[in-house]
Amino acid sequence: MQTTTPPHDAIIQMTSVSKWYGKFQVLDDVSLSVKKGERVVICGPSGSGKSTLIRCINRLEEHQKGQILVNGIEMNDNVRNISRIRLSIGMLFQQFNLFPHLSVLDNLIIGPTLVRKMSRPQATELAMHYLEKVQIANQAHKFPLQLSGGQQQRVAIARALCMQPEIMLFDEPTSALDPEMIKEVLDVMLDLADSGMTMIVVTHEMGFARTVADNVILMADGRIVESAPPETFFTQPAHPRTRQFLDQIL
Ligand code: ADP
Ligand code: MG
Repeated sequence: MQTTTPPHDAIIQMTSVSKWYGKFQVLDDVSLSVKKGERVVICGPSGSGKSTLIRCINRLEEHQKGQILVNGIEMNDNVRNISRIRLSIGMLFQQFNLFPHLSVLDNLIIGPTLVRKMSRPQATELAMHYLEKVQIANQAHKFPLQLSGGQQQRVAIARALCMQPEIMLFDEPTSALDPEMIKEVLDVMLDLADSGMTMIVVTHEMGFARTVADNVILMADGRIVESAPPETFFTQPAHPRTRQFLDQIL
C-alpha cells in the first residue's frame, strides 16, 4: 500500500523511500505508515530488503531518496536528530549481540547508566523489573554464554526495554534459535504487543503474525508487494506473489 498523505498520528512515516547499494537498488519506492501502538509484521524472500528497510528507520542504513519521519523528526544527516530518535527505538537482531564479558545484569545496566545517566541502584531496579518480565531474573548474575539461545534473546529484549523505547524493531529474532526455544521468545514478544508497544517485526513466524499483527507486509525485490490485515493477507491476498510466498513457507 503506497500512501502519499501521511496520517497525522503516524509514529513512523516512510514516504517513497529508495536506497541503492552501489548500482543495486535494494529499496524501491517504499512507503509505510505505522501508528503508535501498531504492530507490523514484514515477511518476504531472503534478499528482498527487509533488514535494510528496518535499519533505515533508525538510520543504521542511509536512504538516498524519499523521506523517513519518526515521531515527526526527519531521519537525515542531522546527527542530533539521529541520536534523539535512536533513544526512542529499540532494536533486536537475529544474533543477540550481548556483551559476553558482562553479566546479564550488567548488560542491562550499562545503557541506562551511560546513556540515560541513571544511578546504578536505579538502573538495577529497572533491569530486575524487565528481567522478571522476560522470566529470567534468576539468571541475572550469569554470563550470556552460560544461557541458552532463547534465554539470551530474552535478555536482549529486556536490555532493549531498559532504555524505555517507544518503538521496537525486530529483525528475525527467532531465526537463530533451536525450534524448542522459539516459543519462549515469541511469548515475550506477545506480552510486549499486549502492553501496547509499537512494533515492526521481520519474521517468518506466521502464527505470530496472525495473532499479533495489525498489518502484514510482503516484500519482494525491494518493494512492498502486499500490506493487509492478517485476515486478508492469509486468505485473500491481492497479489499472486503473496499466495506463492505463503505456499512456500506454510
Ligand atoms: P533481507 O533482510 O530481506 O534478506 P537485506 O535487506 O539484508 O534483505 O538485503 C537486500 C539485498 O541487499 C540483498 O541482495 C543483499 O545482498 C544486499 N545487501 C545488503 N546489505 C548490503 C551491503 N551493505 N552492501 C551491498 N549489498 C547489500
Ligand atoms: Mg534480513
